[in-house]
Amino acid sequence: MSSLKAYPFTLFRSVMVILLVTLIVMVTSATCFFDYQSRQNGNQMSQQLLLTQSEMAQHMLEEYLDNPHELSHLLQQYLQGGQSSLNNEMIRPEMVYLTSRAFSAIPAFHSFSWSEANGEHFAILRDKPGSRIYLERTDSRNPNLLISYNGLSEETNIVKSNDNFDVQAQPWFRSAQLQHNPWWTTTPDKQGLIATLHSPVYANKGRFLGVISSSLRVAEMSQFLESIKPGSDYSLMLIGPDQQVIASTDNAPPSAQLADPQSEDAIQTFEVGQKTWLATTFDVQDSEHLLNWRGVLMVPKTAVLAGSKQQHLLISLSIVIVILLLMAALGVVIMRFTGSLKETVKKLRQRGLTPWHKEQGSQFFPELVELNQALSSVSQAYPAAAGSPRNSLEEDSDTHFLTRGGLLHTAELYDNRNLLAMIQVSNFNSVKNALGTTLAKEFIQHFAERLRSLLPEGALCCRDREDTFIIAFAGMYEHKDVTWYRSILSSVFRMNPTEMGGESPLFTGHVGMVIEPVTKENISECLRNVSLAVQHAQSQRNGTCELFTPEMREEEVHNLRLHQALRDDLQNEGFHLVMQPIVPFVEGAPCCEGECLIRWQSNVLGFVPPDKFIALAEHTGMIVPLGKWIIETACRELADFIARGAPKDFKLHVNISAVQLSQPDFSRHLLECIHRYELNNSNICIEITESVLLHDTHRIVEILAYLRRLGISVAIDDFGSGYSSLSYLHSLPFDCLKIDRGFVRNVLDDKKSEAVIASVLMLSQSFEVPLVAEGVETAEMAAKLLAMGCDLAQGYYYSRPKPFADFTPAEGQFVVLPD
Ligand code: C2E
Ligand code: CA
Ligand code: CA
Repeated sequence: MSSLKAYPFTLFRSVMVILLVTLIVMVTSATCFFDYQSRQNGNQMSQQLLLTQSEMAQHMLEEYLDNPHELSHLLQQYLQGGQSSLNNEMIRPEMVYLTSRAFSAIPAFHSFSWSEANGEHFAILRDKPGSRIYLERTDSRNPNLLISYNGLSEETNIVKSNDNFDVQAQPWFRSAQLQHNPWWTTTPDKQGLIATLHSPVYANKGRFLGVISSSLRVAEMSQFLESIKPGSDYSLMLIGPDQQVIASTDNAPPSAQLADPQSEDAIQTFEVGQKTWLATTFDVQDSEHLLNWRGVLMVPKTAVLAGSKQQHLLISLSIVIVILLLMAALGVVIMRFTGSLKETVKKLRQRGLTPWHKEQGSQFFPELVELNQALSSVSQAYPAAAGSPRNSLEEDSDTHFLTRGGLLHTAELYDNRNLLAMIQVSNFNSVKNALGTTLAKEFIQHFAERLRSLLPEGALCCRDREDTFIIAFAGMYEHKDVTWYRSILSSVFRMNPTEMGGESPLFTGHVGMVIEPVTKENISECLRNVSLAVQHAQSQRNGTCELFTPEMREEEVHNLRLHQALRDDLQNEGFHLVMQPIVPFVEGAPCCEGECLIRWQSNVLGFVPPDKFIALAEHTGMIVPLGKWIIETACRELADFIARGAPKDFKLHVNISAVQLSQPDFSRHLLECIHRYELNNSNICIEITESVLLHDTHRIVEILAYLRRLGISVAIDDFGSGYSSLSYLHSLPFDCLKIDRGFVRNVLDDKKSEAVIASVLMLSQSFEVPLVAEGVETAEMAAKLLAMGCDLAQGYYYSRPKPFADFTPAEGQFVVLPD
């Protein structure tokens, strides 16, 4: 027994548990770490985040506010190219083109105008995003008349006109004449603040040409702020030069004023209700740094942290996913590993060190391939090792099964096993005799392979004799479990030839089984019992499996005693012969035939009927000397009977079994006896049953034909009871049919028996041989059989079997009248 102790958990489980623990530890420590980190650096992180976000907002705002500059630049270049006069047809379409682009790209865009030095004014406006774009210009002849059109051309309706207009009187126009650089003005309007960029335009020689004004409706910028704020929790504000809020997102905190736009602190904190807000302010400029606005970006503190919490959650989730994937991958790898390891162990269990082949085809881990190869090499090498005791004594070289010695020396046999089977391959000898030892070896190897393939794991296999195998199943079984194993083992002999490519030989044989816990003390008895069971199965059809019962042993013991007594009484003359006449149905007709039957009065066992010992004598071979004694005695008794007055041609029927017929000296001995007692060959009729043909048919037919040529008759006994095919009747020579007692017994009340008798009668008539009805017990039966056409009768109605001396023939006449 192995001294290695197994851990209570498998490799698979251990690795999975380790990974699971790793997972828990990693997730917990990550959570703790993030928690600690956010507590330590929470403020710093959120402030940093806010600053970065404010920079982005600043950048986007500045880009937006640069649009008026760009527009002015484009027009300026055009005007400075000498196209300054509004009288020039090109300038107006150019302005319409530029503004239409600006209106669609910048929702807050309000107006774009060109005010010429001579007081002419041309403007394109939109009151609010989405509403109509219209033209406003001074009359070409009167610069004080400003006309507002409904659309972009002067052909559209005039909406209003102002004849007091004087662009030159506007403060910004006057300022433009004094400076070259552009500047911003903010003017309140009904709908909020309007921020306008004024760009003075000078000709190359320094002559003032006019002013380009490009304006934004600041209130409309709230929409833009909404679109650029970093998250929904954030709010963004624009603070004008007078510290007033000029635009803001909807969700700005009511006391946003708490954030001081002028504060030097990068981040300010203020409370609104329960919430702590973080705020940062930044400059808002156009590209030329002409605007002095400020931006304020604000966010509740919790919202910034939530962002980082989300990040942490994402990291934790990634850890979980990675480890789960790792677990799955390792699980597959381990299962593949342990799976193939188990396969190797199974094979090792099943085949032990009997040669087995390396796995082919499938892929395995290199370690397992190595193990497999090593074990396979050991298994190949082991039996070949010279002088190995297992090789020579404990293992069968043909099948690599254990020998009986090997089986008995295997410790596992005595470990938790109670089911043994013995399998006898009955056609092995025929194969060996007919095809030779080499093919017989292949035959038995095929059989062993097939057997092995059917057996469950852990079964020990042993080749006990050339044609006999012993199987010890692993585990403990009850009687009800046996059915399953019976059918497995019987199936060895019920093989479908296609199963093994149609090349496999057919096996015939029998199986015995025994249920008994196997110990070193009782193993011999177990093997004896299983052997008895197989012996029982042998008298039945192919593939029969018998389970040992105590009655089998009792019968065996009885048979042994019987056998012993038979042998003793053969010498002590405990036997004698009786004769039962075979008489014609016609009453009073002389009797010319009789059957001699053996009687055994044993000193030890008392009277033993022939049914009880003939089969045993046949089985043990005792029938050979006994049969010789019967033939000799029958001839002597018959000679004496004739001498006492029986007809000279009296025919004595002697029962002969197949074993006797197969004896090479059978004919010689029979003829010798007939000759010794000065009888004729025609005085003897040998009775055989159909079953003799089951043996060596060809040889038996030859012997019978030989004896018939010499004048000895042949009767077929118990006709109709056994062999079902009638085809043998053509090859078998015979002179008389005896119909089985079983049919005769029921002739009066069973139509089927009557029909069988009638058909046998027809058969005998067509073969032109007489039919003897055995077992005629009453006058009614005799009358019926006579009426049916039977020729001869034998039975208690006429005479019981009696010693020859009890019959009294007279002067060549022997008449038997019903008792
Ligand atoms: P079997 O050859 O069929 O022998 C006929 C059997 O029928 C005999 O039984 C006989 O006693 C019995 N019998 C005859 N008439 C009647 C009847 O009217 N009613 C009934 N119920 N039975 C009747 P037995 O003598 O007991 O022999 C049994 C069998 O033993 C024989 O059957 C035969 O197969 C075998 N046997 C007997 N003597 C010999 C022998 O000398 N050599 C061999 N090889 N076998 C023998
Ligand atoms: Ca007989
Ligand atoms: Ca018979």
